[in-house]
Amino acid sequence: MEQTEVLIVGQGLAGTWLSWWLFKLGIPFKLIDVSDPNSASRRAAGVVNPVTGRRIVTSWMIEQLLPFASASYSEIGSFLENSFYQETSVIDFFPSVQMLQAFQKRHEEDPAWLFPGTDPGKYAEWFRYDLGWGTIRPCLLVFVEKLLMAWRNWLEKNDCLTGSVFDMSRLQKKENGIKYAGMGARYIIFCDGKCTAQNHYFEKLPFALNKGEGMLVEIKNLPGGLIFKKGMSLVPFRENVFWLGSSYEWSYTDDRPSQKFRDNAEFWLQHFLKMPYIILEQFASIRPATLERRPFVGFHPMHPHVGILNGMGTKGCSLAPYFAKQLADKINGSGDILPLADIVRFEKILGR
Ligand SMILES: Cc1cc2nc3c(=O)[nH]c(=O)nc-3n(C[C@H](O)[C@H](O)[C@H](O)COP(=O)(O)OP(=O)(O)OC[C@H]3O[C@@H](n4cnc5c(N)ncnc54)[C@H](O)[C@@H]3O)c2cc1C
Repeated sequence: MEQTEVLIVGQGLAGTWLSWWLFKLGIPFKLIDVSDPNSASRRAAGVVNPVTGRRIVTSWMIEQLLPFASASYSEIGSFLENSFYQETSVIDFFPSVQMLQAFQKRHEEDPAWLFPGTDPGKYAEWFRYDLGWGTIRPCLLVFVEKLLMAWRNWLEKNDCLTGSVFDMSRLQKKENGIKYAGMGARYIIFCDGKCTAQNHYFEKLPFALNKGEGMLVEIKNLPGGLIFKKGMSLVPFRENVFWLGSSYEWSYTDDRPSQKFRDNAEFWLQHFLKMPYIILEQFASIRPATLERRPFVGFHPMHPHVGILNGMGTKGCSLAPYFAKQLADKINGSGDILPLADIVRFEKILGR
């Protein structure tokens, strides 16, 4: 029987980062992933924004997460001889007086990430706006799909990846590990995004899956390298093409693109943008979000060979590298998982 140390299910951001850190630690692993073009990672804009929400609060742990993310994307980029991120700024056009005031208030309280715009008319050639703008920086723009594809190629070349659907009915627990389809492993780690919410080991965790819709839009001659935000965001995707999104729907009936989002996005483009545009593609995906907005990391308290790296919600680009490293260190016996992220906090629920 083929033997490995860690079997990983899913190669989104979570599975990519976990396998990277295991590789760096020299721990043998295998990955199973069915390539889903609408997985959360494949549809993500790739933005790491240090502030969030209507009140423009600083994102959880961003002081640690942002530098860790840039160092990690840079390191895997050097290894794969590619570039997977750039530093950038969000140009935040205030959609309401309340948002303008919130920005000013937060800037006075903590000027670390927010910079009021100095020249109100600077972007008037391209956009319609009445209430001015401010800059949020530094932000990161991660080229997620490029990273996933490059790492997948490496995994395939090194015989670490099976491109098929993981079938739970074939998983067997053994005394010192697991067995799956003729392969033995000490650990199995579920990094399969929204699907883990239906996995009988972890379905009791407080997942709060969330639908996000977006579009790819061709727009020529916008200033390069910046993210433009006015409620929704226009994010550079490739030359003359922007990712536009997104929605946050807590209750939804299906995971398909909707006419409602298309109408909202077209209304937004017609009222905000002064340039011609062509909608190239509309898409929808499900974010593996959690009720308390903290990731799910670690091992099942009743099944110590079964683990999870999930619940990255809207922030997979910054949370995945950091918490994958903690999980890899835990497997290596050289580190621990932050208690706020460790699933032992749900020991009672998982033990029922
Ligand atoms: C529209 C949208 C925009 C977003 N924008 C951003 C952003 O700008 N910045 C940010 O930080 N985050 C963003 N996110 C959130 C981010 O995408 C997620 O947090 C992150 O991608 C989750 O990664 P994951 O690896 O946990 O899950 P996923 O990306 O869902 O990966 C799971 C993988 O498991 C595979 N899989 C599932 N079931 C099986 C099975 N049975 N067998 C084999 N393989 C399986 C899937 O094919 C997939 O490859 C966005 C999300 C959406 C939906």
